Amino acid sequence: MTPAERTTALEAIAGEVRVCTRCRLATGRTNAVPGEGRPDTEVVFVGEGPGQNEDQQGRPFVGAAGGLLTELIGSIGWQRNEVFITNVVKCRPPGNRDPEPDEMAACAPFLQRQLEVLDPALVVTLGRYSMGTFFPGARIGQIHGQFRPADPATGARDAIAFAMYHPAAAFRQLSLKETMRDDMARIPSVLIEARRGRTERPQVEAAAISEVTTQVEPDAILEPDQIVEAEAPLAKAVLEPGPRSAPEPLLVPQATPELAPEPKPMTADPDDPEPTVPIDAGADDLTEVLASIDMHAIPHEPSPETDQMRLF
Ligand code: SF4
Repeated sequence: MTPAERTTALEAIAGEVRVCTRCRLATGRTNAVPGEGRPDTEVVFVGEGPGQNEDQQGRPFVGAAGGLLTELIGSIGWQRNEVFITNVVKCRPPGNRDPEPDEMAACAPFLQRQLEVLDPALVVTLGRYSMGTFFPGARIGQIHGQFRPADPATGARDAIAFAMYHPAAAFRQLSLKETMRDDMARIPSVLIEARRGRTERPQVEAAAISEVTTQVEPDAILEPDQIVEAEAPLAKAVLEPGPRSAPEPLLVPQATPELAPEPKPMTADPDDPEPTVPIDAGADDLTEVLASIDMHAIPHEPSPETDQMRLF
């Protein structure tokens, strides 16, 4: 699929989202928020749902949480418009409440179709509800900063899913901001891993795929060294390139930084340390908290350590 074809397909999905009435969230929205970004990107960020600012503007992550996400993306030398950003539900839950299971189920086909069109190498989940789509049964405090192969049933047919806290969480638990920054710093390395897997993955007869996939535990959350080992049989079975053309050569990293250290529980409750937060941290009640945060702690300029690769 060419970038133009992707753009057309994504716009068609967005058009359906804007008039969708599949669930009760349609009744309270000002604007649906389909998502936005570069159609030929390799990286998709998936959040929870629109907040007040997003609902008003029809764009994802434009409140304070969006500002922090943009800062975090910038901290690894990327720009927001180089990735695609969307949410699990496309309409704002009233009062920024959590989306209900039936609402997420109703909206899931839109995300699935977006991922099918985008065919990303890397899907970054933001928060518990996005994580639940790609890491069923996992807990954010235990798996943030880690990754696993995405289930093709999500629409991401050949991708790695990487878990992060929702940026809004940092406005309720300030210590999470540093955690998010550390997790974000791992993303370039994980993308390298994802690219390698896509380049080496065989497009072969179903029998060959079946043979090797039985050697990978489907529900396992893998550390970087484990995923290399798990994909070794795939590398041996390479017959032809992956479904998308090989990515442009990197502005090559001189060395692959260390990947995904053991996650550190950030609170005394390791089962669920991500605080309950409004979907949109741009809500008025967070303004005071935001003002107290040293946003300059997140570098605006990429450091020599993080500016090792670029998306394009
Ligand atoms: Fe439709 Fe999704 Fe909006 Fe519900 S949240 S009305 S399923 S676009």
